[in-house]
Amino acid sequence: MATDTPMTATCHCKTVAVTVPKKPELINECQCTVCRSYRAGWAYYTVEGVSIPKLKDLKKYSRKDVGKPNNVFCFCPECYCLVCWWPADASDPKGEVGINTTFWDPKDLEYVERRISWEDLQDTSRTG
Ligand SMILES: [Zn+2]
Ligand SMILES: [Zn+2]
Repeated sequence: MATDTPMTATCHCKTVAVTVPKKPELINECQCTVCRSYRAGWAYYTVEGVSIPKLKDLKKYSRKDVGKPNNVFCFCPECYCLVCWWPADASDPKGEVGINTTFWDPKDLEYVERRISWEDLQDTSRTG
């Protein structure tokens, strides 16, 4: 059912738009300590595949409970929607990014499979 048609979603206040290259095939409800507090539902893409024109204006959070976090959580500065996690070092265009789908129109995510990654309960260092 996944198509290669780009999709755009906006945060609640419509300040931040996110365009991804196609409908996700899977949404991961990560159970690590960070993601479960946000109730995030991640779709994964590459740095080069995603467009977030306001990315540099987003509020950033790096977790403090791991030595050197390898990604940064990004929020709308107006409505505080969690938009994505982005690699701390985004120099690799093939690097993975996580886009939070919980603010997307549910009609755009019809029939997309969801996974709950229970294994992350054991690995507290993992994010995304
Ligand atoms: Zn917003
Ligand atoms: Zn997580």
